[in-house]
Amino acid sequence: MDISPYLLTDKQLIDVLCMGHQPMAVHVSEDAVIQAANDAMINVWGKNRSVIGKSLADALPELEGQPFIDMFKQVWNEGVTFSGTDTPADLVVNGILQTFYFDFEYRPIKDADGKTYAILHTATDVTERYHSRFREQKLIEELTALNEELTASNEEVRASNEELAAINEELQAITEELRLSEEFLQNANNELSISEARFRQLIRQAPVGICLIGAGDLMVQEVNDAYLHVIGRSRDVFEKRTIWEIVPEAAEAYAPIMNGVIETGNTFTANEHRVILNREGNDEEVYLNFVYEPIRGHADTVNAVLVLAFEVTDMVIARKKIEQAEERSRLAVDAAGIGIFDLDLDTGIPVVSGKFNEIFNLDSPPDQDTVTALVHEEDRQLRAEAHAEALRTGHLFYEARILAQPDTITWIRAQGKVFYNEDNRPERMLGTVLDITAYKELQQQKDDFISIASHELKTPITSLKASLQLMDKIKDKAEQNMIAKLIMQSRKSVERVSALVEDLLNVSRLQQSDIRLNKSYFILSQLVNAVANPISIIARHKIMITGELELQVYADEHRIDQVLTNFLNNAVKYAPLSETIEVDISRDDNYVIVSVTDHGPGIPLEKQEHLFDRYYRVDPSGHQGSGLGLGLYICDEIITRHNGTIGVNSEEGKGSTFWFRLPL
Ligand code: ADP
Repeated sequence: MDISPYLLTDKQLIDVLCMGHQPMAVHVSEDAVIQAANDAMINVWGKNRSVIGKSLADALPELEGQPFIDMFKQVWNEGVTFSGTDTPADLVVNGILQTFYFDFEYRPIKDADGKTYAILHTATDVTERYHSRFREQKLIEELTALNEELTASNEEVRASNEELAAINEELQAITEELRLSEEFLQNANNELSISEARFRQLIRQAPVGICLIGAGDLMVQEVNDAYLHVIGRSRDVFEKRTIWEIVPEAAEAYAPIMNGVIETGNTFTANEHRVILNREGNDEEVYLNFVYEPIRGHADTVNAVLVLAFEVTDMVIARKKIEQAEERSRLAVDAAGIGIFDLDLDTGIPVVSGKFNEIFNLDSPPDQDTVTALVHEEDRQLRAEAHAEALRTGHLFYEARILAQPDTITWIRAQGKVFYNEDNRPERMLGTVLDITAYKELQQQKDDFISIASHELKTPITSLKASLQLMDKIKDKAEQNMIAKLIMQSRKSVERVSALVEDLLNVSRLQQSDIRLNKSYFILSQLVNAVANPISIIARHKIMITGELELQVYADEHRIDQVLTNFLNNAVKYAPLSETIEVDISRDDNYVIVSVTDHGPGIPLEKQEHLFDRYYRVDPSGHQGSGLGLGLYICDEIITRHNGTIGVNSEEGKGSTFWFRLPL
């Protein structure tokens, strides 16, 4: 078919093409003159049809400064195609410069020679799309940021979760610990209750008195039987009463002590404290060892006082008795002049008493050698043997001489007891030393006396025996004279014996305090005469009596007779060459003094003090004359029993005056 009548003119064709919704324009020349543009393109530009035939720069002056005009030039001149998507372009639409976004293409349309003769300009307004994409982009960005934030906070949450887990674990551990400590506390509590029960039981059964007293109110919280026993109270009196209401008699002494313990918190201890306690109505002296122990509460304040009291009365009394006994025995030992030694047998070192040192004349504690050196040479062997014997038998005994003072013999008697250790080895020796010098002297005197007495008695008895034998021989043929002489001699011997026996009897009576005074009034000078007469008949001496011849005394005449006889007999015996013997009676206030003076040899001063001792004789050998050394001793006893005094004044070579003084 012939389609020619249907074919469109170029103009029609262009108009048809321009009807499309796709914005489209055709440009020519280097300046991109708009030859054709459809309405869609003109709308895009925001212009009207007046732009047709204008260069692009004239049609859209707002493009100046934008790359599009240059791009057209390049397409035209170089035949390249430019295209772009979402390309921004600033256009004045509705009188306002706005930015729009386009997908565009500037395509060169070329002839057969490749020369560009038109530019096809297509553009799609994608502003809406662009903006929504931009918003989307923005949204995505925001979302990403949000996401990131979320991730971060997620991280934080994770971290805090971890922390939480850790805390949880810790909490669990703490809970476990708490559970354990609770268990422990429970156990401790149980144990505490048990131990408290045990403690109370212990308190109750303790042999020592225990009392728990509240610090604030001084009420007794706990008390045991031993304490009740100590204070002598029954349990029921403790109800709602303070300790001092219960034992008021102890308050004065103990309340200040207890207050002090509560205030200071310091323990108070006392030993053998003496207190008078009223036990069952009786005041008793009691000795206590006690402790006030403060019991502290939470704030370290004293909230109770634990009193421990132990009665030691029996012990203290027993000890006091022992101390007294010890004191007594010490006094007795001192009074008896007994020295004490305690010899360590291992070291040989003795511990000695003061008296021991006094006896040995030592001024410092001795060692064994010092003591041995003081023992008389002749007795050292004996002493050593006694010590050796003591180690065997356990008992020491010896008497020995020591030279404690130069040139003076002191006799000692040592006695001791050996103490052994568990192995039966002698360990120490405890003993005494006694100065027995006086005893030894007395013993010596006694021995002397016995030999003298025997001798004295033997002499008259021998002569009596001789007289009797002679009388027996001559009894038939004897002369009267001879018999008479022998009888006379025998009588003398018997008198001598009976005088000696009388002296001995007197001594034994004196020793038994058996002399009874039989007092009467008599004229003293008459008694002196009666005593002197028979003596002066036998002796060669002239006895002169002077003084208060009328003086009367109240005394035992027989005993005073004995004294005068002794004085006169001694004067005759020991002053044989003295021609006269003077007896003087004088008065001194309420006393009478009778003295007998001879002009004999006298008596050395140092011996005078012993003259009145028993058995004492100035010359024990008996050269001076026979005697037992008893006469003056008896005289002293007689005068003393009359409450008088007796004495001697004598000077060697000049004579002696023996005197006595009696109260009138
Ligand atoms: P007796 O005469 O038996 O020895 P006495 O006690 O009478 O004992 O005397 C003690 C000692 O006193 C005598 O041994 C003698 O040594 C001394 N004596 C006593 N009288 C005298 C005297 N007149 N002159 C010197 N010596 C005397």
